[in-house]
Amino acid sequence: MVPFGTGTGLEGGVNAVQGGVCFDLSRMAAISELSLEDFSVAVEPGVTRKALNSHLRGTGLWFPVDPGADASLCGMAATGASGTNAVRYGTMRPNVLNLRVVLPDGSLLHTAGPGRQARKSAAGYDLTSLFVGSEGTLGFLTQATLRLHPLPEAVAAAVCSFPSVQAAVACTVQVLQAAVPVARIELLDEVMAGACSRYSRLELPEAATLFLELHGSQQGLAEQQQQAGRAGGAPGWGPGPGDRDGDGAMVGTWGWVPAGPYGEGGMSMTGAQQGPGSGQGAGLGMGGTGT
Ligand SMILES: Cc1cc2nc3c(=O)[nH]c(=O)nc-3n(C[C@H](O)[C@H](O)[C@H](O)COP(=O)(O)OP(=O)(O)OC[C@H]3O[C@@H](n4cnc5c(N)ncnc54)[C@H](O)[C@@H]3O)c2cc1C
Repeated sequence: MVPFGTGTGLEGGVNAVQGGVCFDLSRMAAISELSLEDFSVAVEPGVTRKALNSHLRGTGLWFPVDPGADASLCGMAATGASGTNAVRYGTMRPNVLNLRVVLPDGSLLHTAGPGRQARKSAAGYDLTSLFVGSEGTLGFLTQATLRLHPLPEAVAAAVCSFPSVQAAVACTVQVLQAAVPVARIELLDEVMAGACSRYSRLELPEAATLFLELHGSQQGLAEQQQQAGRAGGAPGWGPGPGDRDGDGAMVGTWGWVPAGPYGEGGMSMTGAQQGPGSGQGAGLGMGGTGT
């Protein structure tokens, strides 16, 4: 028996290579137990990431794990999905609080106990983590209780090109070591930057490129931008700690661009900064080439 979420997993986990029965769970689409005080919600397998965030519109909360595809949240739990926001918000594993599972013998299991969504850890087997990433091999996930996060008041995004992938990686390490609370960070090498630029008619230079996104208050963002710029060695903000020889080798070309509202997912790229509770979350905006 093969559970089918939205079929976005490119590994082909939903293919019944030795025959069998594939279960389409898309019509189990209930969203329940939304608790704004506990920052949690329970979803059935037919609920996708974008559907949940639309449902949360206006609450000031959102679910940030974003693997790019508009996958089902139970499918994301089944694959242990991560994605661009994992830097700040973690992968599926810390964001799944409880799972309701139908086991192969037909019995029902609540991995953290029925109705539980506690953050507090306790000794004992962590059954929730056992099922996250199990790809349907241990049972059908028929409900996932998820951890929600406050929607950031404002978002800023940067596009930064570097002379080499090594320089981009060094900049990333420096920014993280400087404890800048980066929300998203994504690296393209020069081949991928060129391909994306041609496909999406952007004007990205064909160079190793970092896309960064910061979340916070309006005031906090300005500080984070300066911190990131200093750490990464942005021109105008002085050499970063990695530019140890002072030769500018680590220095990339930075540009902060306005970030747009989420909703369409991924790195769709334009728009303006948003306020809290506009309901869409925030998305990496690439309003220009950023160079
Ligand atoms: C463009 C793109 C970009 C991506 N980027 C990332 C990324 O950056 N990081 C990342 O981690 N992943 C990434 N992914 C993979 C993504 O995480 C998976 O495609 C997604 O999590 C699968 O969800 P689904 O609902 O489509 O599951 P499906 O593809 O339908 O199923 C995937 C597996 O999970 C099992 N399964 C599905 N639903 C259930 C259920 N209810 N109970 C038990 N088992 C179930 C299936 O049997 C199968 O083995 C990307 C995918 C795409 C298409």
